[in-house]
Amino acid sequence: MKYNNKKLFIEKIDLNKIAIKFKTPSYCYSHSKLKENIFKFKKSFKSFNPLICFAVKSNTNVNIIREIKKFGLGADVVSIGELMLALKAGIKPNKIVFSGVGKTSLEISYAIEKKILLINAESLSEIKEINRIAKSKKKIVSVGIRLNPNTDAKTLKQISTGKKENKFGVNTNTFHKIVDYCKNSNNINLKCLSVHIGSQILDYKPYEKMLKAVSQILNKTNHKFEFIDLGGGMGIKYSGENKKLNYKKYNTAILKFLRKHKVKIIFEPGRSIIGDTGTLISKVIYIKDSGSKKFIILDAAMNDLMRPALYGAFHKTLPVTKSKKISKKTYEFVGPICESTDRFVTLKNFQVLKEKDLIAICDVGAYGMSLSSNYNLRPKPIELLIKGSKIKVIRKRQKHKDII
Ligand SMILES: *Cc1c(COP(=O)(O)O)cnc(C)c1O
Repeated sequence: MKYNNKKLFIEKIDLNKIAIKFKTPSYCYSHSKLKENIFKFKKSFKSFNPLICFAVKSNTNVNIIREIKKFGLGADVVSIGELMLALKAGIKPNKIVFSGVGKTSLEISYAIEKKILLINAESLSEIKEINRIAKSKKKIVSVGIRLNPNTDAKTLKQISTGKKENKFGVNTNTFHKIVDYCKNSNNINLKCLSVHIGSQILDYKPYEKMLKAVSQILNKTNHKFEFIDLGGGMGIKYSGENKKLNYKKYNTAILKFLRKHKVKIIFEPGRSIIGDTGTLISKVIYIKDSGSKKFIILDAAMNDLMRPALYGAFHKTLPVTKSKKISKKTYEFVGPICESTDRFVTLKNFQVLKEKDLIAICDVGAYGMSLSSNYNLRPKPIELLIKGSKIKVIRKRQKHKDII
């Protein structure tokens, strides 16, 4: 994204033109940024050639998943719906892993039929259910166990998943119990230990701690694991204040781990692949002066982008056409929904905005559209993929007749 003659561009497309042609709010993704992210990710860990399974929950547009598949990535899914989507996008079952604390019998059964690489189980009860279904189908199923390493990811508490008070994974005791259970099962092939300690992680140290916890447990068990699935969680730079995750240090820690344990590494990145490829374009409907600040009332709302309302997340917000006049008053960017949490960001020293002006909310590629809803009976926005000077509609704007 950059300004060219005061106009904001994604690749070779002026966002003003998108707003005229496709209306607002609209999600736009940059293909070249996606490609760059995938190449960088692969390069960071190239010495041990991991299997990279894109976390589909971060972006569930089938056309995006198809593009990601073309770069050789697999998929990490968390529901039967996402599994169907990954298969529809052409991802081979032997590159799909299935995570989640509450897989139903139907979901397990479907995953077994499709012969996916791994079902990563998160409780003894789930392992027993997988065993029961596998037995009834007379199949041998490849599974992983998700360990809760009790590691603080040092991220927002809402997206932290690796501490003992979180519902995810199993503790060390249960882990060993499950290993024993699998040994006595003819229908389960225990291949993987998985961990995922949270999202938007910017410090490599929690990953080091996580690897230590995994290493310790591997030393204590005599089971031979083929895969260690380290999950995702790599953070991105939402604001100038964020430091960058040090991939070099993370890579070094993994190489150290691999000297002791001969295993194949799996990653499940979502945000770091797709997060900064997406932009939400929105139009100012009204401007309301409240005395101390001005409310910039947008045509995008928390139903289109929920992260600020859900986590208090920050998204950089830019004018689509730049001017030099700076507002003396603070701007609070809000949506039209009947909730006080329907606000995106509060900014000082923003340029003076008028009604009908356009703004761009940045870095919304991950957990943007995939978390959207029809709250207030608002149709979901259009999604566009930009590649050079080409624009492809990858999901149509919902119509009222689709939701009424
Ligand atoms: C959400 C999730 C991911 C992806 O997390 P990111 O922060 O988007 O990289 C990976 N693995 C599991 C099990 C998840 O639940």
